[in-house]
Amino acid sequence: MMNRIGEINFKEIKRISPSQFYSMKNCAYKSLLAEAFDKKPLLPLSPNAYFGTVLHKILELIAKGVVKNEDDFNTEFDKQLKIVEEDLQENSFGFFVPLQKKLKNFGLKKIQLKRHLRNEPKQQANLGDINFYSERWFESEDKLIGGKVDLIIENNDNIEIIDFKTGAITKDCLDDEGELYSDVKEEYKEQLKLYAYLYFENTNRFPTSLSLVDLANQKFMVTFSEEECKIIYDEAKNLLKTTNNCISTKSFSVTPTEVNCKYCLYRPACSFFIRKLETDFSFNDVFGEIKDVKKFQNGNVSVFLQNGTRQLTIKNFNSEKFDELSYKRKKKISIYNLRKESTDFVYSVTDTTMIYEQI
Ligand code: SF4
Repeated sequence: MMNRIGEINFKEIKRISPSQFYSMKNCAYKSLLAEAFDKKPLLPLSPNAYFGTVLHKILELIAKGVVKNEDDFNTEFDKQLKIVEEDLQENSFGFFVPLQKKLKNFGLKKIQLKRHLRNEPKQQANLGDINFYSERWFESEDKLIGGKVDLIIENNDNIEIIDFKTGAITKDCLDDEGELYSDVKEEYKEQLKLYAYLYFENTNRFPTSLSLVDLANQKFMVTFSEEECKIIYDEAKNLLKTTNNCISTKSFSVTPTEVNCKYCLYRPACSFFIRKLETDFSFNDVFGEIKDVKKFQNGNVSVFLQNGTRQLTIKNFNSEKFDELSYKRKKKISIYNLRKESTDFVYSVTDTTMIYEQI
């Protein structure tokens, strides 16, 4: 059965989380689609992202003091990996399983993660005057902003908020002189500042430092002022309100861009993006009417799409797709996660390719 998107029932977003803010700022429509589809992605994430959830869970368990030694680590790692892999199988993304075979840096990341074991157990432990709190939930009084802080260390007047990241924390930037330097990603800075204000609203005290810790246990500090935390906090609430207002007015202001859309997992439901595919061939996704389907001697299947005056060729579907695609001749479809071939307008299928019929 080819995937289809029926009518989209937009729902009000009740709460914005600090980790979601940046993405919502870039494309609020994506957040509305995510809510409408109960946060179930319409396309697979990269295998790295699924592995990232395993890594983050283990970091959380180390911080909580549940995973204390290598034996705990190995048991819990296998358990969390199994949960994610079973979930992938259930959601038709079984082609990523086993993750170990799909990821080049699986072993390295596991070793890096193990290094966090050297830290003391921290779950609400009390070491003299130092208190550690992991995975602590904070929300604003009006409940419009809420999220879990990975780790808080309170040491008398020093309060540190720490967020663990399993991917790159910094990105390369250019300064005014054109020199390359590395800086913490803006989305992470804003996330931490929102946590800082949430912490303040709940405890009446501001944290004294905000930091990010990566898989290699490197720490990156984020500078902040109380004023800027408040500004971002208000901005997040306003964004939530204006985004929800769009549902009743049905006036969505959406501008698909490569940066925003490339990794958006709701592309199949985004009419703005699909319209873009009618004229923009820079993506690894295509749209068009099925003109022809051919099966070759080796069993591979190609489908030929008409998009305006362009004919697009998509190669290397397996033979099982022949009947399904042939049956859909003259129908409009969109295909996601293709690989561009060296010849213009020719694409081939990857492990994560998905087809959606337009209705
Ligand atoms: S495809 Fe692009 S424009 Fe559409 S919801 Fe996703 S990010 Fe926004």
